[in-house]
Amino acid sequence: MPSSDNKLSVSLLRRSGTALLQWIDSDHCPEGTENMRNEPDRVDWVRVMPFVFLHAGCLGVIWVGASAFAVWSAVALYFIRMFFVTGIHHRYFSHKTYNTSRIGQFLLAVCAGTTVQRGSLWWAYHHRHHHQHSDEPEDAHSPHVHGFWWSHIGWITSRRNFPTDYSKIKDLAKFPELVWLNRFDLVIPILFATGIFGLGQGLAHYIPQLGTNGWQMLVWGFFVSTTFLFHGTGCINSMAHLMGRRRFKTDDDSRNSAILTCITLGEGWHNNHHRFQSSTRNGFYWWEIDPTYYGLKLLSLTGFIHGLKPVPQSVLDEGAHADHYASVAAAQKSALVHSHYTSLRRAMPTVAAIAVATATASPAAMLQRKTNPAVHKDVSELAHELKAKAFKDPPVI
Ligand SMILES: [Zn+2]
Ligand SMILES: [Zn+2]
Repeated sequence: MPSSDNKLSVSLLRRSGTALLQWIDSDHCPEGTENMRNEPDRVDWVRVMPFVFLHAGCLGVIWVGASAFAVWSAVALYFIRMFFVTGIHHRYFSHKTYNTSRIGQFLLAVCAGTTVQRGSLWWAYHHRHHHQHSDEPEDAHSPHVHGFWWSHIGWITSRRNFPTDYSKIKDLAKFPELVWLNRFDLVIPILFATGIFGLGQGLAHYIPQLGTNGWQMLVWGFFVSTTFLFHGTGCINSMAHLMGRRRFKTDDDSRNSAILTCITLGEGWHNNHHRFQSSTRNGFYWWEIDPTYYGLKLLSLTGFIHGLKPVPQSVLDEGAHADHYASVAAAQKSALVHSHYTSLRRAMPTVAAIAVATATASPAAMLQRKTNPAVHKDVSELAHELKAKAFKDPPVI
């Protein structure tokens, strides 16, 4: 028995030592990336610690109090860094929807590092994997496969999702400066938090009438703002496959939601994005507000970024057709319900009339689903083919 106890202690010590080193060096993986990726999905309590730390830091408001300057700084840092998440982690590193110079790319990765969502390469690797396997068992954060909380936060705490598989993102892994930032992904967040603290101390000294200081700025500008930023981003993984409307019949359950768009500066048009990932804009039409796209468009005027990719006309036409048929179907369904309701109400109680109307509407909806097979999710190259098909074979309503 003592020997098995010793073995357990050694194994625990080794595991703790590895976890400790991984705080500093994300690429430290003695058991091999592939072996780690093959581990079963489960919450690893060591990986939960940063989230406990982040949320516990918010309780600091009890001791540091609040000032208008600190609170507005937290709000501003939320939206600025949400732009970094969506415009850099997502629309640049994950999908390469625009171009920049090599120095520009490095600066983008530094800015994205302040979001405290690990390195851009880790982010891009997992996000590309999500598009490849959306809402399939392989998808690391599908709410349909793994449930809401797992898709929102649990998946990040699983050891199998910790490493970055550089072999799957060769276009990014060829830049050693990006790999360095990804490997030592705590460097930028620590510098960022220290900078905020220093700013607060400086303001307390030079502009005391603002009523703030280093600790207050650290709590509001770093802990509170970063916690909200994490949950705002997490909503896309959890809610954007549950809440909203589906314009395109992609073979996942991605949805468009104006509410999620407001929280995430344009990422709520998630069904659009799953239909065509290569476009810089996620809001495909003028009425679909997309602040990230507007910001990137402004940035492109400075020459810092260039080559923003548009949505192909064929995809826009496909969306317009889908909207048209959906509105006609909705009008017909409503007329159907209404006519049944008015003709039956004289002879039958109200509840029975509605039941008849519902029963006749359901087979029609089922027929529509059967006659509209799902379009494969990665279909950018098939855009023209689909356009031709849409005109030749309009959906049955
Ligand atoms: Zn998605
Ligand atoms: Zn994406």
